Amino acid sequence: MNIPTDDILKNLTEDQLSAVTHLDGPMLVVAGAGSGKTRVVTRRIAYLISQRIWPSQILAMTFTNRAAREMQERIGRLVGEAPRNVGTFHSCCARFLRQYIEALDDGRTKDYIIFDTDDQKALLKQCLNDHPATTGLSPGFIAELISRAKSSCLTPQEIMTQEAWDNAEAIHEVCQAYENRLRTQNAVDFDDLLLLVARLLRERPAIREIIHNHFRYLLVDEYQDTNHLQYELLKLLVNPANNNIHATGDPDQCIYSWRGADYSNIMNFEKDFPNAVIVRLEKNFRSSEHILNVASTLISNNLNRIDKTLVPAVPTENPQKVRLVTVGSDRDEGLWIARRIRTLYLNGNPYRTMAVFYRTNRQSRTLEEALVRASIPYQIIGGLRFYARLKVNPADRISLERVAAYRGGVGPKTLAAIEQCAREQGMAAFTLLCQHDFAQRWKKKGAKVLDFANWCRQLNDLPCAPVGHAVAAVHDFADFTHHAYDRDGTPEARLENLQEMLTNAVHYERDHEEAGLNEFLQEVALVADVDAHDPDRDTVVLMTLHCAKGLEFPYVFIAGVEEDFLPHANTIADPDQIEEERRLFFVGITRGREEVALLNARARANWDGDWSRQPSRFIRELPMEDIVRTDFNLNNPTLPRSTFRRW
Ligand code: ATP
Ligand code: MG
Repeated sequence: MNIPTDDILKNLTEDQLSAVTHLDGPMLVVAGAGSGKTRVVTRRIAYLISQRIWPSQILAMTFTNRAAREMQERIGRLVGEAPRNVGTFHSCCARFLRQYIEALDDGRTKDYIIFDTDDQKALLKQCLNDHPATTGLSPGFIAELISRAKSSCLTPQEIMTQEAWDNAEAIHEVCQAYENRLRTQNAVDFDDLLLLVARLLRERPAIREIIHNHFRYLLVDEYQDTNHLQYELLKLLVNPANNNIHATGDPDQCIYSWRGADYSNIMNFEKDFPNAVIVRLEKNFRSSEHILNVASTLISNNLNRIDKTLVPAVPTENPQKVRLVTVGSDRDEGLWIARRIRTLYLNGNPYRTMAVFYRTNRQSRTLEEALVRASIPYQIIGGLRFYARLKVNPADRISLERVAAYRGGVGPKTLAAIEQCAREQGMAAFTLLCQHDFAQRWKKKGAKVLDFANWCRQLNDLPCAPVGHAVAAVHDFADFTHHAYDRDGTPEARLENLQEMLTNAVHYERDHEEAGLNEFLQEVALVADVDAHDPDRDTVVLMTLHCAKGLEFPYVFIAGVEEDFLPHANTIADPDQIEEERRLFFVGITRGREEVALLNARARANWDGDWSRQPSRFIRELPMEDIVRTDFNLNNPTLPRSTFRRW
């Protein structure tokens, strides 16, 4: 079939066109925010397909599922068929592992499950409990060490030696216990997904050859945020016979160095892939000039960067200055945002055109309260999927613990006794609980245990496919809603998450007819916060600045532009980290198309009273000619409403 290239090649600048129509050999597109990098990646994939490259021969990796989904949809519109292998690093690797993990010979099978950060911490907590010499260490601390080691392709021991840690021996044992338990539970953590694929490619030449012959074209968006492991993985994935790697990125938007991202990867591209063609895109197609001036001026304060300015491709009609709003308190902040959202909505802008960003998750609570009070629909995301997981993988002890905690009736001691008994019989505790003669043998332990066992058995008997049906059944059965209310103070948000999981399952089922619950869960576990965002629903989106990368919204609010939030309190002593915070702020501002509002509060309520707050040091760096300043303070009767009404 001949695919016409008219649509694929329209509305592209000359530079974009040269990047889109590039065929063989390495290419790097390095350009500022909103200059069309992601558009280039999407169009290039469509172009390759129009040049009779099989979609299955293309592998394109991004950092969020949402970005991947959007790319797939756009490619689908252009060429009728979206390649399957457009996904996040993690989801592409999860798919490889499903096919090849057994070649590692470490006991894990293709039905492996993925532990998310909470699971990982729960497992580490167990490992720490078994190692008294590590008293006082938190699971989060060890999780961070393990992740840092994996994402820099080192062992935890190597890191501890490099940094001369004190209790390295005991921590090493905990790390080993963690790895062993992951293996025996047929589980991997997020970093393992990439690490194990890299290991397969390195150690199994036959698999490497299959992959090299299979994927002729490799594309990576947001290359500035690749960590060492991702970088190594990419080098292993590229077939050295043609070096067909196409990377796009912007060093000013590197915001994940705390997770090992290293933007020197982008600087070293030419060294790694000699003869690489470099394309620079100069124009910004997203934001109005005031927004661009504010962002450019801010980022020019970073010493460690290559200077470039953001120039609008076409001048905006009647551009809005960036709003800098100083509010009396965190409540005023929420109120101001809610009122502004309401005004914009009443002026005909759907809620989905608006986003509220903040630096830390805990800031979302007061913002949520304000939106709820104003009856503004919003999305903010978390996750609950233990029930379904347990069903697929009975060895998943973490899920069993969580389910027991949600459901009630069985305490940790009883659970430990059940586990002990299961271990003696060489089976998982959940499997033992599901056995028909369990009640017979455990009746002395009381009705609650029997009730729990009975409940486990029913869960186990629910169907596994089709996916939509299976998830709905698990959902109804587990009476999620009730327990979700119990545990967290934010019922609406939790309910939406659950609804989200059902919707996802139905979508998934439509696209993957053959798939069962297990495949679905492997994908769902990879859905980071931002990925659950459904742009089709008309709601405002709340997210952290880190999640905002790659997205764009006509109206952007950044809350808490204050010292200790932005820059974050933990970064203040380190100039490099301050530069990263500035990049993060830059990423937030450059998401906005028409209007950006920056808010800072003079005081915030805390559990022990009100704390006065200082505006962020970054505010002093902004060009005042592109900004309008406002005060909004409900505690001060001379200021509030009149100021607000002016808008
Ligand atoms: P970021 O650095 O934030 O990821 P980006 O460089 O990937 O940004 P895109 O998201 O691809 O930029 O493009 C930004 C906006 O500009 C999008 O809305 C896109 O559709 C639009 N755009 C890009 N190129 C053109 C063009 N040649 N003509 C018109 N609009 C364009
Ligand atoms: Mg992009």
